[in-house]
Amino acid sequence: MIVLNRPSVSNHEAEAAAKVILSGHLAQGKYVAELEKKFALLCGSKYAIAVNNGTAALHTALLAIGLKAGDEVITTPFTFIATANAVSMIGAKPVFADIDLETFNLDARTIEKLITKKTKAILVVNLYGQPATYTEIRKVARRHNLIIVEDAAQSVYATYKRRRSGNLADISCFSFYATKNIMSGEGGMITTNNKRYANFSQLIRNHGQGKEKKYDYKFLGYNYRMTDVLAAVAIEQLKKIRLFTKRRQLIARKYTKEIIKIRGLIPPIVGKNRSHVYHQYTIRVTSLYGKSRDELQTYLLEKGIQSTVYYPKPLYTFSYLREGKKLPQYVNTECAAAECLSIPINTNITDRQVAYIISVLQNI
Ligand SMILES: *Cc1c(COP(=O)(O)O)cnc(C)c1O
Repeated sequence: MIVLNRPSVSNHEAEAAAKVILSGHLAQGKYVAELEKKFALLCGSKYAIAVNNGTAALHTALLAIGLKAGDEVITTPFTFIATANAVSMIGAKPVFADIDLETFNLDARTIEKLITKKTKAILVVNLYGQPATYTEIRKVARRHNLIIVEDAAQSVYATYKRRRSGNLADISCFSFYATKNIMSGEGGMITTNNKRYANFSQLIRNHGQGKEKKYDYKFLGYNYRMTDVLAAVAIEQLKKIRLFTKRRQLIARKYTKEIIKIRGLIPPIVGKNRSHVYHQYTIRVTSLYGKSRDELQTYLLEKGIQSTVYYPKPLYTFSYLREGKKLPQYVNTECAAAECLSIPINTNITDRQVAYIISVLQNI
């Protein structure tokens, strides 16, 4: 079976973890500090704060910008549930805009009409590893004095107008979950150039305690600390980020070159002035193709190829997240949820496997 998601790990990660375990210092310490330093450098941001997963990163970032219960955050309905849940965890309300069908990211033109007096932020997701259109989103944010939060869980090392993901918004959040482009099993990171947000994030991840003053709790905080064991794993992964990204991009080029010629299939489209790091390679299976999306998925499985629908249900379909009673029209989100299919693009698959997958798609 050619699996969809599988991390690239070697003795480097195993030995780094073993070294920390045997040192007897397993909790947050110098490895977390080293990872933060290197990660900030990678993104070109001033500060990086490690946490124990991407959802915690989002929750912390939203608290750090001062989001309160009752506030509204405009975001995309076509994402992983954690994006919206982080907003709900504060008692704030996710308000869903529509997406652009070419990039699967927020369509900036659908944001403005959703802004109310309660709107505090725009939570932008770089879906599948492609940065959203920040220039347009920033224009809207400036006009209405909104904070931009970047959900960069899928877009580590991607660029938009020569700036790296992690440095595209007021505050950014990453995940090192096992399937992400660089991973430590579980893990997360916040990056920002705002000193106040950075300081606040550091306090939130450790029960509201400052470094200097232990057992002095300034406000409600959480235990969102990362362990040194996993930081050591993430440091090893970080060393290979260029290699990993290049490999994903090469596989994507091979796929796109052939898939673009297949009637009814639409390969991923990369927007202007940005690079895509292909956390997922997601095609659209339109009605012009010989099989439906679900039939194709079953067929691929019979041929030993795993594929998945990210994401089959737009987030506004979940009643606990739904704002108001009547749903607006989400034409593009509905279409994406019905047509998209992600095929294998992890760093373990070989050129021969890529050629095989292409031939299966061609000879249906
Ligand atoms: C993975 C992911 C998250 C959550 O990260 P966890 O580390 O699993 O908590 C949030 N948003 C998006 C878009 C993701 O892909």
